[in-house]
Parts: sequence; structure tokens; C-alpha cells
Amino acid sequence: MSCRGRLLMSRLGVVGLCFVLTSCNQKNSQDDSATTTFVNWSLHGNDHGEQRFSQLDSIDVGNVSQLGLAWSYDMGTYRGLEATPIVARGKIFVTGNWGVVHAIDAGNGEHLWTFDPKVPGKWGRYGCCDVVNRGVAISDGKLFVASFDGRLFSLDANNGEVIWEVDTIDGKPPYTSTGAPRVVKNKVMIGNGGSEYGVRGYISAYDINTGELIWRFYTIPGDPSKPFEQPELEKAAATWSGNRWWTSGGGGTVWDSMAYDSENDLFYFGVGNGSPWPRDVRSPGGGDNLFLSSIVAVRPDTGEYVWHYQTTPGDSWDYTATQHMILAEIDVSGERRDVLMQAPKNGFFYVLDRITGELLSADNYVATTWATHVDLATGRPVALDHYGTDPSVVLPSPAGGHNWQPMAFNPDKNLVFIPTRDLAGLYAISREWAETGEVTRLPDWWNIGMDWQSYTDIVASLDPDDIPISHGYLKAWNPSTREVAWTYKHSNVWNGGILATAGNLVFQGAGDGVLRAHQSDSGEVLWSANVMTGMIAPPVTYSINGEQFLLVLAGWGGTAIAGGDARTSAAAKYGNRGRLLSFKLGGPEKLPILPLRDQSFANVSDESLDEIDVQSGARIYMQYCSLCHGSRVDSSGVIPDLRRMSPGVRSQFQEIVLNGQREVLGMPNFSDLLEPDEVAQAYQYILQVTKESARDAPP
Ligand code: CA
Repeated sequence: MSCRGRLLMSRLGVVGLCFVLTSCNQKNSQDDSATTTFVNWSLHGNDHGEQRFSQLDSIDVGNVSQLGLAWSYDMGTYRGLEATPIVARGKIFVTGNWGVVHAIDAGNGEHLWTFDPKVPGKWGRYGCCDVVNRGVAISDGKLFVASFDGRLFSLDANNGEVIWEVDTIDGKPPYTSTGAPRVVKNKVMIGNGGSEYGVRGYISAYDINTGELIWRFYTIPGDPSKPFEQPELEKAAATWSGNRWWTSGGGGTVWDSMAYDSENDLFYFGVGNGSPWPRDVRSPGGGDNLFLSSIVAVRPDTGEYVWHYQTTPGDSWDYTATQHMILAEIDVSGERRDVLMQAPKNGFFYVLDRITGELLSADNYVATTWATHVDLATGRPVALDHYGTDPSVVLPSPAGGHNWQPMAFNPDKNLVFIPTRDLAGLYAISREWAETGEVTRLPDWWNIGMDWQSYTDIVASLDPDDIPISHGYLKAWNPSTREVAWTYKHSNVWNGGILATAGNLVFQGAGDGVLRAHQSDSGEVLWSANVMTGMIAPPVTYSINGEQFLLVLAGWGGTAIAGGDARTSAAAKYGNRGRLLSFKLGGPEKLPILPLRDQSFANVSDESLDEIDVQSGARIYMQYCSLCHGSRVDSSGVIPDLRRMSPGVRSQFQEIVLNGQREVLGMPNFSDLLEPDEVAQAYQYILQVTKESARDAPP
């Protein structure tokens, strides 16, 4: 590919990409046995409304500059880490990859126990965005965690022993589970992922004591020849056309966000994108395709439907509504309202009446080109630009103006802090569909109906001036005045979730490996620490005997997204050593300085290349390899960079790809999708890019 093509590629987002021991997590509570006092972080979002706001204020704008490392804990992985740690009575429960749980002493970082669900490495192929996990739930001395292969475990919080285990997906790939379960009214709620592959989404509620399935809510209609599982699916079915959703999967997975309003007894969950992505392919006669990309409110005891709001009707862009939802009371047009707030991938910030689902406001928090605005009278986006087979450059990208990285809300300042990005996506319906009216369905692999194989050629044909420059930001959003209060610009597009505290502080880790504290009403950076590992997980805070700690899981990843980050990320510079880091005022510890990673490329100058094979290999690489190893073999630094393969790995390339030689490490076997000559062609393309990278590298 030309330098111009590489520039273009780098600008596009390819992927898209309580302890209810004491339910008073904000107040000091007395331990049973000792006089130690704890303030916990015992719910995923700190409270059921998921505000991610802590009342702790010992660390404040006046002393935050004195923060230092209290301790660090090595997570034993170099892959993506997304978990919110749960802190309960001086113990931390945090997940690494695959659903592995680590229990750690919150005071000194000492390891207590580890639980490994032993997920088969082959399951790594079924995840769109790395083998991540976003955390555990805790209730009544029991932990709940979903493993990457869709099993839900109840563990004894004292020792990690399994109390019960259920399979939430009946053993069926390509479902995966990456989300944190939530416990509401003695039920543990869990969804799953897999819309990119072509599955049918649902969320399940299990009895916390027995693991018995209490209810299941399907997000889209099922087999048209069978009765509807739920009454509202009959209405949903009227918003689909043809029956392709059934043969293609339909999508609508509930892979992350949930919230609970105990006052009104409403449980909310966010629903993902359609499968395949373009509505024209999925539902050829049009329609809204409920409940794709919707926020759904149900009764937590029964799963009974109450209301829904669809953020992206007939979603064609992977604009899921699975992003973080915050429940709060704010001023709306001079009136106090109980609201639900969400900034889904599609670029609009929504404020809904959380009792009725009525839309109160929707405003751009980043630039959007797929729609001009949202009409408040109809509640619908206006001037939707559903793309066709011609390539279309659209803002935001499938990575979203905001993705799963949690926001935070400071009720005293009436500000929502959003980790955002400007990043364009390239969309085009598969040419195969235009020519034949069908899209080949690949077993247990991406089936998004896009022209993935031609991506490289399409990008090379674009004018660079037509592609916006990408940037990541932290934005403070006032949901009452409906405008940005301040913006902090990052060097990377893919950054961490947010914590807000009563100390007038906002904390965020970033892709450049720097953890920062901002003054919440001005955005000013008051403290920062270079931890040499990029962060995507949200920090949390807790206290022991009145001493406040700041805790964050460092470990970048979660997508093959490049957008220029491949060169500037801490992962590329230092590797991506996963660590749990705890800070406190006057913390005395120092992180060991990580050595700079060897950035040289493999010397493949003596390998001869065949131009035809290289061209075919580029298409094969894009379709099967790019989603993890980078759009032009430019790994973000998390998954191995194939331009740096050792001679030993190069000599075993076929065995690794076709025989599952490294399956245990999460590199799947592709023998059902690829022939040896195709693997050889992809290899030729990788060598070509390796040679180009070595030639273009600075001396
Ligand atoms: Ca998706």
C-alpha cells in the first residue's frame, strides 16, 4: 500500500471497531470483627443509578498533587483490561482476561486468591474486541462473574470456590460474555455479545442463590415459524421485513450497560447493533428493527416490558445503545426531573424521563454526519444517510463518539464527564450483495455485510482531505444547558473510563499511559502519573480507616482500533503490562521503569514476493487477520505485531494459523475458513508490509 493509503488507514477507525454487606457504600460502615472502617466501591457504577461519583473528599483539589503509589499488583497479562474493580471491606475483586477473578488486599495489594474459569483458547476467535471482562458483582458474600465463553459463576468471596455455575449461552459459539453482571432484588442479570458474528441478543436473570433462570428477554424477534417468546416481540416483528434477520442472526446483544431505579422499580439495559450492519441487507424493506440500539426498561422481578427508546432506528452503523446509562435528578427546562442519560456511539447525548421513556433532549456531543439532529417532537434522528455499496466516510465510526468506557456524573456540579473521540468510519455494503442479493455467511466469524476484503483498495481510492483528523477527548457536559463546559484533548483516540469525586476531581487514565486528575469544574490538570501502561478501565476510589485510595486497572486494548494510536500508545512503547495500581496521598512506592520495547521490524529482505499473491493476501489479511492484528499489520501494541515476527514464528506460520498451535494463548485455528495457499498469500502480504515498514522507519 502507498504511504497515502497508510495515512488514510491511520485516520479511520477500522473496527468498527454493594457489596451489599452494607448497602451504604458512600458511608463508613463498621466491620463485624474489628474497628476498621471502610468505604466500599461495591456496585459496578458505585450506586444502582451508576453515577460513578464518590462522596470521598479526603483527596481534593488542594492536595491531589501529593498522590503517590501505595502499591501495585501484576495482573499477569499483556492483553486488554476493562474491569471496574469491586472493593468491599478491605478486599478488591477484579477481573483480568477471560473472566479470571483476582482477590487482593485493598490496603497492601497482597494476593488473596485467584479464580480461573478455564475458557478454551479457541473462544478468543468469537470475540470482536479482545478477550476482555468488565468486572464482577457482589452480594451477600457471593461474587458473580461471567466467563468469556458465556458461563455465569457464583463464587464464595472468601476463597473463590464455585458455589454454582450455569451456561447462559447453551455452549453455543459465537456468543461471548464480557460484561459485568448486576445484582438486583436477589437476581443476577447478564447479557452477551456476538452481534458482529450474527447471533440473536438477549438478557437473562438468575436466582443468586440457586442459579435458576428466572426470566429471559429477547431483544429481537426469533424464528418466524414459531410463537413469540414475549408479547412485545409481536410489535417488534412488525418493524422488520423479510426473514433475513432470522437466517443472519439479527444482533441486538446486551453486552454492557444496565442500571436500576429502586424508587420506581425499573431495570434498564442497553441493546446493541444489528447483524449484519446495513439495514438494507438485514431487513431489505426497511423498518426500525426493534429493539436494536435501544434502551429498554423492564420490571426486574419478571422481565416484563415497560418502555423502550430507540436511539438509532434501523441502525446501519454499529451505533449500539449499550453505552453507560446514568440515572440522576437534574433541571430540565427549569423543572427537576428524574432522568436517564446516555451518550451512545451515534454521537448524540440523550436525556430521557426514566419513568416514561419520554425524550427530553438529544444534542451532539461530537460531530455527526449520519444524521443532522434529533427531532424532539418525534424523538427521531433526522436526515439519516443509510449508505449503499459506494464507500461512505461517516462520523462517528463504529468505535463510537463514546464507547463502553464509563462516564461519570457529579451531581453537585451538574456535569457528566464523557470520554469521547472524533474518528471517522468507512462504510460500504458488500459488493457481493449488490451483485447477487446475498452475502456469504462465514461460520463463527465476522458477518457484518461490509466489503471488508476490499477495504484496503477502497481506502487507497479516497481523497485524504475527505477524511477528518481523529482525536480523543475528555468532555464535561452540562445536561441542563445541553452544552460542553470544558474539553481536554488527548494524544490518543482510545482512552479510559471516568471517576468523579466530591473532592471536585475527575480522574481518567489514557492510551498514552498517563493517569490524570482534573479539576471537575475547569478541566485543569492538577496531577498526573505516567504509569507506562495505557488505560481504558475506569478508576474507582475507596477508603480504609479514613485514608482514601485511588484505584485503576492499567492495560490497554479492547479493540484493534488504530487511528494513529498504534504509534503513540504506551502499549507500543512499553508493551502492555497489566497492573492494578493503588494511589494515596504521600504514597511512597515507585513503579519499576519499563524498558522501551524493541520497535525494529523483522529483516525479511531475503524473502521473495509475488505481486499477485501479495494483492490477494491483502484481501485475506483484511478479512481474517486485521480485526486483531491491525488494519495494515500495525498492531496497537496489544496483540502481536506481525511485522516483528521472529524467524521461529515465521517458520511456523502455517501451523499457527491452521493447526491451532498457539490456541492456548488465544490465537484461534482458522482451518475451517482458510486454505494453505490463502495463508501463504496473507503471509506474503505481511512480508510486503514488513519490508515497507522497515524501509520507512526513522533511522
Ligand atoms: Ca458492535
